[in-house]
Amino acid sequence: MASAPVWLEHPSSLNHDTGAHPEQPARMVAIDRELSARDWLGFERVTSPAVEAPVLEAVHPAEYVASIERFCANGGGHIDMDTVVSRGSFEAALHAAGGAVRMVDLLLDGDAPYVFSAHRPPGHHAEPARAMGFCLFDNIAVAARYALDVRRLERVMILDWDVHHGNGTNDIFHSSDQVLFVSIHQSPLYPGTGPAGDVGTGAGRGFTVNLPVGPGADDRVFCGLVDRVAVPLARAFAPQLVLISAGYDAHRDDPLAECELTEEGYAAMTRSMRSICRTLEAPLGCVLEGGYALGALASSVAATLAALSEPLPAEVDGFSDGAPAAVVGAALERLSEWWPELAV
Ligand SMILES: [Zn+2]
Repeated sequence: MASAPVWLEHPSSLNHDTGAHPEQPARMVAIDRELSARDWLGFERVTSPAVEAPVLEAVHPAEYVASIERFCANGGGHIDMDTVVSRGSFEAALHAAGGAVRMVDLLLDGDAPYVFSAHRPPGHHAEPARAMGFCLFDNIAVAARYALDVRRLERVMILDWDVHHGNGTNDIFHSSDQVLFVSIHQSPLYPGTGPAGDVGTGAGRGFTVNLPVGPGADDRVFCGLVDRVAVPLARAFAPQLVLISAGYDAHRDDPLAECELTEEGYAAMTRSMRSICRTLEAPLGCVLEGGYALGALASSVAATLAALSEPLPAEVDGFSDGAPAAVVGAALERLSEWWPELAV
């Protein structure tokens, strides 16, 4: 496999000015400072292109894209109660989506073993024609759509470990059997979607996997669901590409949720996904979503990068031995309707 892992970034991420808001430019500054002190953990820094219009419009209607461009050009403001934009936000959003798409190319062309696409604004709450939850375009969905339509893949897996449900991604691929969407999220919590019973529609039934967890869920719960549910699902689905909606707001320090993850949990989940991807020979890329405790965000991103760049231990099953059997068992039993391989 080729060369160094790649860190995709663009300076426009700093020009998405949200004012006094948890999703702020200081997030990127904190990450930069941490990674810079650690020599980028072996990642090569690459500047992201802006997404090309047809690639973006495969998910978001042209009229919607134009409306966001216009709103930003007019100075911005509140799109809804949570989602704020400035004059620089449209360009930032184009590069956030463009970075995720470039990530797919780098991975599929064998130009990088692992890629982390790190931009603002995040994406997984954005619906095709509606900005919400700090998100304008669903970056990871645009990347997955591109992988299917342009790169001609047939099976893409998305694991969303942001503490909030990725309602945008959930809905965009709701009826598709080409994208296996697996989300671990706190419930109850914004945006209120993603119950365990939401399994997709039509041909997509069983390909939307929602794993809500209660407040207080810790490393053992998240890692247990990754090791005991997401990894077996990956083995059964055999994705040709695995993308992670990497939000860090399930961290115990995060002000927007009540989960209790630590850096070690993010590292363990990363190692688990890296290990199954190696077995399946599927490339693995991460797209930054949330994470609002600046120090925890920076150190957790660093933990993810370290877990991608350090030699993979023979035994990667760190926390999941302590996973609550009831949570994992219920998920496996429910999913075995579509995935008989998961039957306990
Ligand atoms: Zn979030």
